[in-house]
Amino acid sequence: MATITFWGGVGTVTGSKFLVETEKAKVLVDCGLFQGLKELRERNWQDPPFNPRAVNAILITHAHIDHTGFLPRLVRQGFHGPVYCSKGTADLLKILLPDAGRLQEEDADYRNRHNLTKHNPALPLYTEKDAYATLELIRPVANTGERIQVAAGMKAGFRVAGHILGSSLVLLELDHAGANGEGRKILFSGDLGHYDQPIIKDPVPPPACDYLLVESTYGDRLHDPEDPKVALARIINDAAKRDAPVLIPAFAVGRTQEIVYLIRELEEEKAIPILPVTVDSPMAALATAAYANRKEEHDEEYASILRQHVHPLRTHSMITAATRQESKKLNDATGARIIISASGMMTGGRVLHHALRLVPDPETTIVFVGYQAAGTLGRRILDGEHEVKVLGQWIPVRCRVAKIGGFSAHADWKEVLRWLEGIESGVPNKTFLTHGEPGASNALAGHIKERFGWNVEIPEYGQTFELI
Ligand SMILES: [Zn+2]
Repeated sequence: MATITFWGGVGTVTGSKFLVETEKAKVLVDCGLFQGLKELRERNWQDPPFNPRAVNAILITHAHIDHTGFLPRLVRQGFHGPVYCSKGTADLLKILLPDAGRLQEEDADYRNRHNLTKHNPALPLYTEKDAYATLELIRPVANTGERIQVAAGMKAGFRVAGHILGSSLVLLELDHAGANGEGRKILFSGDLGHYDQPIIKDPVPPPACDYLLVESTYGDRLHDPEDPKVALARIINDAAKRDAPVLIPAFAVGRTQEIVYLIRELEEEKAIPILPVTVDSPMAALATAAYANRKEEHDEEYASILRQHVHPLRTHSMITAATRQESKKLNDATGARIIISASGMMTGGRVLHHALRLVPDPETTIVFVGYQAAGTLGRRILDGEHEVKVLGQWIPVRCRVAKIGGFSAHADWKEVLRWLEGIESGVPNKTFLTHGEPGASNALAGHIKERFGWNVEIPEYGQTFELI
């Protein structure tokens, strides 16, 4: 007999954790941090609902923190088994996890200095050291479907999910788990990519399985029909005509590389003039190197550009500001130019130093290319607030504000159906909808029932199902 229990990534898009248990082994798929609402974040601090020492292995679908950011905590609590993920995911985890550890330490430090804690002193959820200990456990595997033994009676295969570098669908195969002793296959979609995204490949079709978990982030939405490349060209041309700067706050992993890729294409197509482009984020520089080095993850278009000896992730006049000194020098620049800097929602990082100078400037255009969560500086500017607080200073918002809605690393609901339609053979006994707000999961359930007539379930936090 086998079971699956949903310890996160249900009723919300964060905290993904799915525990599969048989008599012989326990395997956790994804180990994400809860983010956003306080009642969700508090779960990060509660004792885990299962014994971390009893988990034999962890399988990771992709590097994003809402799928991996709890790993160092679990290691701190005694998990010491192997962590399997694709090579691309391993590359990104080396960048993301130590940074997450540093942020946790800074956060605890801040709460202590400002007396914001009942605990004396406040301890971090985990430290940079815990993150490095976690990296020791990582076992990179090919993202090609090759089956590997991950625990007693359990094999897993990783396949391209097309969401970010290294993202995987994970097919977990359990020996003798069915009622009559036959095997059982469970497919985890992880986050499913948007088709035709630049740089990386499209998601491969779902292999045949008995149970399927599919994400539902955009279960109730379709992407903006305007091509984001067209929108980007319009905004850059407008700024170039006025000899004015463009500031693009962008997440360092994935979105920054995508923007640079599109700017280079637009320059080559002579759709925009060649302007100085600065990528001002040390993490983005590392992530760009990871994207460039992981050749097996590139789509055909990227490979063909490489064959022409062009670097796909460089524009024609680009500098990467790696040090603080280089970043400061940018303050002296004038005229039309493009600055891409993290964080994407302007909650921290070097983008704040640029915001301090450029947000009060009526000539500057700030372009939002990703989701802006409630309460973030990005959201305040986007919502039209007249004054915002940046690095402790109140400044007037006089810049132009633009938003490009078409960028997304997630499949929308029609793309999820397109993916499901390609299933190799058969129909899953049950399809679980995960990784969505309740409205989005419900909407996707309706679409799947209507189109395919499948047995669909929206699990609740802590709910267990038998995999019969
Ligand atoms: Zn993701």
